[in-house]
Amino acid sequence: MKEKFELLETFVHESHWWRYLLQCRECGQRYFFEFYEEIDWDEGKDPQYATFIAVDTDEEIEILERALPFELLKFSPRLVRSFPRSAEKPTIGWVGIQPGQ
Ligand SMILES: [Zn+2]
Repeated sequence: MKEKFELLETFVHESHWWRYLLQCRECGQRYFFEFYEEIDWDEGKDPQYATFIAVDTDEEIEILERALPFELLKFSPRLVRSFPRSAEKPTIGWVGIQPGQ
């Protein structure tokens, strides 16, 4: 990830929850990034979620900073990599973007 993004700011860095402000080295677009891992005490196979939300203004960043992990689901377009317990492989995809736009 370091090759593609520059880390501008760290909001949270706990063992299972990270929040960063990243900037694309190619186009300069800023992204609010969150990594969140649920603890699965039974099987030790923790579901993982990584979310990139494109942000343009400091206001948007402030709103996201205050949002709880599940509240990020309200924001789009966002790029989500999810690895639920039931899955063998993670899936990655855009939410809130029409193909071809
Ligand atoms: Zn870019």
